[in-house]
Amino acid sequence: MRSAPESANVSAGPRPFIRAQTDLQLAAWLNAAGESSYRASQILDWVHKKKAETPHVCTNLPASLRKKLASDFDWTSPSVEIECGSLDGTKKLLLRLRDDRLVETVLIPASPALYGAPSDRLTLCVSTQVGCAYGCRFCASGLMGFTRNLDAGEIVGQVEIARRLAGRRVDNIVFMGMGEPLANYDNLLRATRILNEPWGLGIGARHMTISTSGLAPRIRELAAEPLQIRLAVSLHGATDEVRERIMPVNRRYPISELMDACHEFRARRKQAITFEFILIEGLNDSIEQAELLARLAGPLQAKVNLIPYNTVEGLPWRRPAVPVLKTFLNILKTRGIPATLRLEKGHDIEAACGQLRLKKEMHRGNDKQSAL
Ligand code: SF4
Repeated sequence: MRSAPESANVSAGPRPFIRAQTDLQLAAWLNAAGESSYRASQILDWVHKKKAETPHVCTNLPASLRKKLASDFDWTSPSVEIECGSLDGTKKLLLRLRDDRLVETVLIPASPALYGAPSDRLTLCVSTQVGCAYGCRFCASGLMGFTRNLDAGEIVGQVEIARRLAGRRVDNIVFMGMGEPLANYDNLLRATRILNEPWGLGIGARHMTISTSGLAPRIRELAAEPLQIRLAVSLHGATDEVRERIMPVNRRYPISELMDACHEFRARRKQAITFEFILIEGLNDSIEQAELLARLAGPLQAKVNLIPYNTVEGLPWRRPAVPVLKTFLNILKTRGIPATLRLEKGHDIEAACGQLRLKKEMHRGNDKQSAL
């Protein structure tokens, strides 16, 4: 297993986020600062259980230690730039990071179709990068290109903000927001550990799902990790020809290689994989694609989530008509594939990944142009 370094680097660059620290890292920092390492559990309790935003409220810590914690760590979470509510209860947040970059987080209540979550559960869709380098042709995040990876503290910070706003715990996390999670592997893994640990947010690994566009070598790496996190693969095409039209990553990791990695994951984990399949009119919604998808999913015992395409301004793709969607679903079901047709939540608030940020960035660009 690739593990995060266990000492907090407090001297280089901006201050590390307190929310990115593991118990061992904090203990190492305390030792180096001449403090007792048992204070680590007190600090983590303040950060994750009592949701402290500054060390100055940590009244059971000595004043000298609170001062060091303030000077060595960044205690902030991302701030809410825009909050939009949808009629179906979905809430979308545009969050501002400390370098003024923007990312999106979506709170999805009552999502029975999402990975079997009971309907009273709150699911959070989290971003892992600012923008994305993978350039999927249907995706707003891909349109803006890649800016940077999120720090583990910024990933955990999204969950922190969401539970503050919702006034309750987050039950499920899907790493399905902006960015390719497996391209930010170390920060992602560190964040999942902090989210999972009893001293962190205590969210079960089986309640976290990583969604990838198909980075086969990283899927193999993830299969060897001890945390039993779920895997969803964005397939969106059942042949290389169709997949390559919308997902450039397929040229690097064609379907045969991707399926080999999925079989390895399945064999090591004994865990069902989910295939995400966005249905786009005239592109991948044919009977032939449905039959071929069933042939890929069957041997893996994979579940299939069919997602009717959510229109993105400036992109040419359209959502298929309802009878086409139903025919596609029925073919999978007839072949014995567990499949759901997920009507995208938050359609009225542009919940498809990257759309809100894209609009904001476009406005920013327009403002700059009109200022010249
Ligand atoms: S779908 Fe995912 S991997 Fe593809 S461009 Fe969008 S964020 Fe990146």
